[in-house]
Amino acid sequence: MYSVEWQKRGLPHAHILIWLETKIRAEQIDDVIRAELPEQEVDPELFDVVKTHMVHGPCGSYNPRYPCMKNGICSKRFPKPFSTETVTGEGGYPFYRRHSPENSGIRTTIQSRANCIDIDNRWIVPFSPVLSRTFRAHINVELCSSIKSIKYICKYVNKGSDLAAFGVQNANDEVTSYQIGRYISTSKAIWRMLSFSIHERFPAVTHLDIHLENGQRIYFDPSNVRTVVENPRNTTLMAFFDPCHKDEFAAFLLYEEMPGYYTFNKQNGTFQRR
Ligand SMILES: [Zn+2]
Repeated sequence: MYSVEWQKRGLPHAHILIWLETKIRAEQIDDVIRAELPEQEVDPELFDVVKTHMVHGPCGSYNPRYPCMKNGICSKRFPKPFSTETVTGEGGYPFYRRHSPENSGIRTTIQSRANCIDIDNRWIVPFSPVLSRTFRAHINVELCSSIKSIKYICKYVNKGSDLAAFGVQNANDEVTSYQIGRYISTSKAIWRMLSFSIHERFPAVTHLDIHLENGQRIYFDPSNVRTVVENPRNTTLMAFFDPCHKDEFAAFLLYEEMPGYYTFNKQNGTFQRR
C-alpha cells in the first residue's frame, strides 16, 4: 500500500507499506535496516549515498531553525541515542544499532551553510543498504510492528488537497459568486497530468461478515426499530448462501473465495458475477 504526498514546496514523496510473507525476526533487523555510516574504505559507494542523503539535519543547537524544530526540540527526535545493538520494544519503531565513535562508530564531516559539522551515527536516518545503493536517494526504511504506522499512511490517502475559498469581483464578469479553489503545486500538477497513481493497495481486501443466523449487526433508533427488525439488511454471509443454491459455479466456491469472482452489491444485498 502506498500514498504519494505533496507539500507546499519541495519534492513529492511516497509513504509505502510492504507486508512481508516471511516476517523479519528481531535478530535479522540489522541485515535489512541500518542506521550507521558504513566504513568509507570498505564501501565507498554506500558511504557516499548515506552521507549525502541519509543524514538528518543537523538540527538543534547546530541549526535551531531547521524545519523539524518544534518548541526548541527536534520533532523527529534527533540526535538518536547510541546503542551497541538493535532493541525492539513495545509498539513503535525499534531502536537501531548506532555505535559511538569511542566504540568503533564512523564519524564524518558535512558542510552545512558556512560551517563544517562533525556528525556521528546519532544523525543517521534508518535505511536499507540495498535500496540506498540502487536508487541513490533519500529512502527512510523502518520496521513497522504497530497499527499506528498504517493509520499514518491512511491519513494521507484520505486527507485530500488543501482548500481555499476565493472570490472574483468584476461587475461585467460572469464569475461573480465565490468559488472553491484547490492548491496544486507544480510537481503535483505534472504528476496529475501524466496520470500517475496517487495511492494503490494490492491485493484489495473485502470484509466478509460472520454471524449466527439472525445474529447480524443492525442499526436502529426508536423511530425505525420495527422496520429494521422486520427487514434486517442482507449481509455478505446471507448473500453467499443464495448463489450457492442457484449457481453451479458458486456452489464450488468457499465463502472466502466469493469476492474473487463476485462483487457484493450493497444496494440490493446480493453477490453479482464480476
Ligand atoms: Zn531534527
